Amino acid sequence: MTEKIFYLDPERYKDKGKILEIKKKDLLGILLDKSIFYPEGGGQPSDRGIIKGENWELLVLKVIEEKGNIWHFGELKGDLPEIGEQVFMELDISLRKEYSQEHSAQHLFSAIIERDYKYETTGFQILPEYTKIEIPLSWDINLSYIKSAEEKTNFYIREGIPINIYWKDDNKRIVEIPKIDKNPCGGIHVKNTKEIGVFKVLRVYRKNSQVWRIEFISGDRLIRRLEKREEEYEYTKQKLGDPDILNALDKLLNKLSLLEKENKKLKEEILDYQAQEISKGSLETLLGKVVIKKLDLDMNTLRILTLKMLERVTLSFFFNNSGEFILGRGKEFPRETWDKFINILESRNFKGGRGEYLIQGRLDNIEDITEVLFQEFF
Ligand SMILES: [Zn+2]
Repeated sequence: MTEKIFYLDPERYKDKGKILEIKKKDLLGILLDKSIFYPEGGGQPSDRGIIKGENWELLVLKVIEEKGNIWHFGELKGDLPEIGEQVFMELDISLRKEYSQEHSAQHLFSAIIERDYKYETTGFQILPEYTKIEIPLSWDINLSYIKSAEEKTNFYIREGIPINIYWKDDNKRIVEIPKIDKNPCGGIHVKNTKEIGVFKVLRVYRKNSQVWRIEFISGDRLIRRLEKREEEYEYTKQKLGDPDILNALDKLLNKLSLLEKENKKLKEEILDYQAQEISKGSLETLLGKVVIKKLDLDMNTLRILTLKMLERVTLSFFFNNSGEFILGRGKEFPRETWDKFINILESRNFKGGRGEYLIQGRLDNIEDITEVLFQEFF
């Protein structure tokens, strides 16, 4: 059994301990006699930090409780630790602080929406960027309720209400915000609601027909997010050359759509011109005018070009460097010959689609096949 320092003294961020057992999986696991690391559970992720020995250091990434034993898994640098060795441990304090703020904010917000609007919280999870809760509700959620619950949460945060934690019947840990909330919970919390700092709902949406999700953020994380958003805003403002980024973005999108139209028109004109030029080099055969040509263009462009070619020749065969090809026949080109083409292609491991007038796909030895087609039919 590991002594749970994270419960006895939640503000102890550094401590010494002794290794009881070692496990080697993808990550190295260390079992200690006591621990300041909160193991994941009840929606709160595990603490992170480092554990150091004589000639090694473990970057702790995951902490798990197994029947009262706390296992610390992480990436090892240096020698292998030894059972019985004395170690030094240190938490990632800022992460611990964030988790405590988010978890305490959840207790407060969930209590308010249940007390005032009968919205029950059934799921809770702290994610890397924000926290989410789930509310079973088949009809629409009332967004104005959520807005006022957000305001009330911030009101209670500013009130600075002490959060009490105590054990009941020796095994039930109770987290209590006097007059607002009382819940059994194993998570780590702040000592006073004012340590949450500030609370903001980010998104409210339906997860499925029975459940709504609310995503929120609080405290230090909210500041970090704001800093990131400010950086993004400054960058966008500079790139757009206009402090009114929404207006500038609209203008830019309009311009883009005009350019796209213009570009499409120009492409069409180029392909028309190209089709005309290519048809000048077509071969006169007994079956009509035929074009066989390698062109390093994508399939979409080759398809458009083929349709343009068929206004000028009876058979068009284009292929590119990637072994892709498109074969098109005009209405005058005999159907029996077309079917023979298909037979030959299929005998040569052809992959793709075929229709009455177009065959499009891929062949391994594409240069070969052009020769075969040519010798066989023209
Ligand atoms: Zn809790």
